[in-house]
Amino acid sequence: MRVSVDIFLRALFALTVPCIGSANPVSDTASTALFSSTTEVSTSSDGTSSTHAPFTHPFHTTNALHHGQSFCDTGKMQSPIDLVETSCEKKEYQPVKFLDDILFTNEVQYENNCETVKITLVDKTLKPRVEGGPLNSCYFVDNIHFHWGMKNTEGCEHTINGKQFCMEAHMVMYKNTSKDVVEATIKKELAVVSFLFSLNPTMDPDLKTMVHGVTEVLQPHTMFNISGNSLNILKDFIGSGFYSYTGSLTTHNCDEGVLWTVLKKPIPISKTQLIIFHDVIGEDGDELQNWRHTKPLNDRQVFVSSF
Ligand SMILES: [Zn+2]
Repeated sequence: MRVSVDIFLRALFALTVPCIGSANPVSDTASTALFSSTTEVSTSSDGTSSTHAPFTHPFHTTNALHHGQSFCDTGKMQSPIDLVETSCEKKEYQPVKFLDDILFTNEVQYENNCETVKITLVDKTLKPRVEGGPLNSCYFVDNIHFHWGMKNTEGCEHTINGKQFCMEAHMVMYKNTSKDVVEATIKKELAVVSFLFSLNPTMDPDLKTMVHGVTEVLQPHTMFNISGNSLNILKDFIGSGFYSYTGSLTTHNCDEGVLWTVLKKPIPISKTQLIIFHDVIGEDGDELQNWRHTKPLNDRQVFVSSF
């Protein structure tokens, strides 16, 4: 019954709430934060609020939710997971797609926030729109960030049939019925498109400008502005086949109800390019690594696109 009501409400929202687009201003809170919701409940003991809560390899929890334990420890719908093709239910989906070029034609900022390299639009009033795949409405892109390890054989968060890749990028989005990621976290209207990266013998020229952006923010708390066309490679891969399931944020407070789309086709990255990510320095002066191990699927169903 709950499911039916939920489906009805989702359908209603989809029908009644148009995708507002770039004309609609976004709040400062939403536009400056990565997983802003987690910052509200994971304020550090020194009073600073983290935009991507502290963690080290492989993942540890230091903070608790205000109402008790963190979902990171107790949640039953956690991410990442191992995506097992034979256990997936095949479903007819439309490809995921960008509805505009906002993300690629405007200036973006690369930031080393000591937990990841996070990319956001410099103009916080702009709201790139995405739809398709499992998204039942239009979603706005909040940020893109990366997860990596220390070795070439690790770093990806989701695995496919037990295989781990070397890096993963998350494009974090919130539904157009929420005003920002804070509200979307509460309303369970967050979605993430996940791009996996696999090692490739040669350098991919399409990744060159993105890697350049990362090169400029190796030191802690540094920022670098560059054209959004440094993200063009995302456009090439977002339309590929994918897995979809409901999970959680992979950083504190591991809030659940996040709709995941994990693209099947990995983006090729050379060792030279991957090393740049391995060279990103965290708060303590050491090389940063920020991937979380897979979590139990429990009674969730994973869907796979038929293409
Ligand atoms: Zn992430």
